[in-house]
Amino acid sequence: MPRISDIATLLEAIAPPALQEDYDNSGLLVGEPETEVSGVLVSLDVTEAVVAEALDKGCNLIVSHHPLIFRPMKRLTGRNEVERTVMAALRAGIGLYAIHTNLDNVAHGVNAMMAEKLGLDDFATLRPAKSTLSKVLTFVPHDHLDAVREAMFAAGAGSLGDYDECGFVTQGQGTFRAQPGSDPHVGSVGQREGVEEARLEVVVERWNVGRVVAAMLDAHPYDLVAHDVVHLENDHPTAGSGGIGSYDVPLDWAAFVDRLKTVFGAPMVRHTAPPEGPIANVALCGGTGSFLLPDAIRSGADVFLSSDFKYHEFFGTEGQITIADIGHAEAEGGISQWLVDQLSVLKVGFPNFAVLLSEVRTNPIHVS
Ligand SMILES: [Zn+2]
Repeated sequence: MPRISDIATLLEAIAPPALQEDYDNSGLLVGEPETEVSGVLVSLDVTEAVVAEALDKGCNLIVSHHPLIFRPMKRLTGRNEVERTVMAALRAGIGLYAIHTNLDNVAHGVNAMMAEKLGLDDFATLRPAKSTLSKVLTFVPHDHLDAVREAMFAAGAGSLGDYDECGFVTQGQGTFRAQPGSDPHVGSVGQREGVEEARLEVVVERWNVGRVVAAMLDAHPYDLVAHDVVHLENDHPTAGSGGIGSYDVPLDWAAFVDRLKTVFGAPMVRHTAPPEGPIANVALCGGTGSFLLPDAIRSGADVFLSSDFKYHEFFGTEGQITIADIGHAEAEGGISQWLVDQLSVLKVGFPNFAVLLSEVRTNPIHVS
């Protein structure tokens, strides 16, 4: 059986924990990494009923989008549902793992799932992530170029979106003079040495810089390795908030609302005045998305689809964009099945391993 750590590794490859928002609490919340997992139950939220379902179905790990423990807990006395649910999970030996805003912030995550349900094409991130990329440069003698480059790629360098092994090499001459007490790879102590070297540069996601530099130093033949780590201001091409996509054949408002209700199971849509023309471009954000309204307007989208809009947030967008709010659980609900599909790859190595979709309705909001 896989261990919790194997499942965490898989989920972290899908959505790096470093991409979670500062206020978030994604990751392993209850349980020990080395515990063997009999089965995983996937749910949008964790409640006492979901813990009971996991126990009933023989699953000792719950993977949820929303973290059960969100605010610091000072005591566990069962005085509210969060405390009671944590206590129930601990008693039952059930681990809890949350993959929340890090999954919101990868281009293939929550927002792509919504765009796919809507049948949108040309999906792109609405607000690309900043300050997430670095460049690592080093200078390598030619006979070690391949080994150093391979080691850096293997540690995750040069991998962005659908591309990996991206790097650049230029030729030049490096100089150095070895001081007494050193053991130079080429040349001799006290002599200035000129060496033909390759300058190798690769882009690295910032959370991988430590690993990539360590792998580079390990594979490099020099004692003292000249290298630069440069933080980039570039947008990340495949990470950020929200999304935008388009319809080849624009939909009229009534057809769009029908589609929202059908594909998201939304009992109702709260919205501002419908757009005058057909809908060609749709900006969206799973969960609480009002912070992205300015980006949605700037993108020129006809509609901004999200949830949790407050009364006053619906004001002031006439003629610019139509806000459509389908409800938080409705917008994000499809991510549970998506996670079941992702986790099911573990069945290749562990045929008896169960990955189940929770059947508990956790949405506390009912529409009458
Ligand atoms: Zn949410």
